[in-house]
Amino acid sequence: MMDNLPDRSPRPKPAETPDGSRPREFWPELSREIERIADPQTILFELFKRFDDRAAIITSGQITGMALVQMAWENQLPFRVCTIDTGRLFPQTYDFLELVEDRYGIQIERVSADPDTINRMVTQHGEYLFFDSQAKQEYCCKIRKVKPQERLLDTLDVWITGLRWDQSEFRQQVPKAQFIDHQQRTILKVSALADWSNEQVWDYIERNQVPVNPLLRSKTRDAYYESLGCVICTTPIRPGEPKRAGRWRWQHNEENKKECGLHFSI
Ligand code: SF4
Repeated sequence: MMDNLPDRSPRPKPAETPDGSRPREFWPELSREIERIADPQTILFELFKRFDDRAAIITSGQITGMALVQMAWENQLPFRVCTIDTGRLFPQTYDFLELVEDRYGIQIERVSADPDTINRMVTQHGEYLFFDSQAKQEYCCKIRKVKPQERLLDTLDVWITGLRWDQSEFRQQVPKAQFIDHQQRTILKVSALADWSNEQVWDYIERNQVPVNPLLRSKTRDAYYESLGCVICTTPIRPGEPKRAGRWRWQHNEENKKECGLHFSI
């Protein structure tokens, strides 16, 4: 499979520039077009063909993101993959991202918070501020995840994400294609696998031998990881628990609404 690496030679930029000069109907028309395409691999093909490096898969290396990476790679067009590095990811996740780079011959862009900002937060609130309150957890997520992602979005017109309807009650609202406002600009956020079930994703992963973070593979009868974020803030779940129950387990808000802020605009 490695023989078919995509052509990474420089390509002309898309005719439409990211300067806000697109006609008003551009985004609604594109969104409707994306919603009509059933095959997620075709969606990725269309997006990377038209937007080149102004489109990117943003993933933390979980199974849906990895399925998207595999599909983009099979399309044999250059594609951009980014991740938000909070500085607190599992050691296995850092190793896994390197493995993914080797496997696909790509470089994953790691975007992280400004070290001075993190230092100020830690000095003021402590290293483990997220234990103090939900507000401080959200503040830590804002500094380590949301702000770096905003910087990344400055460079994008299309944000491709691995959100799926079956991940939580909250995520059932996610459209396959939606506009978000970013710095007075429109960005198309595409959840190409929104309507896939967990089983469909795993089936795709196994059939195509897509690499999987070993933490997501190690399932015991009593506890397993279903979704991975930062160390400490992510714990395994027990059978029957909601998929995101392992996040910030010490909090008592509704399990199905646990979010770090990256997707609050949905
Ligand atoms: S998941 Fe925890 S450590 Fe990571 S950014 Fe959010 S609060 Fe901070």
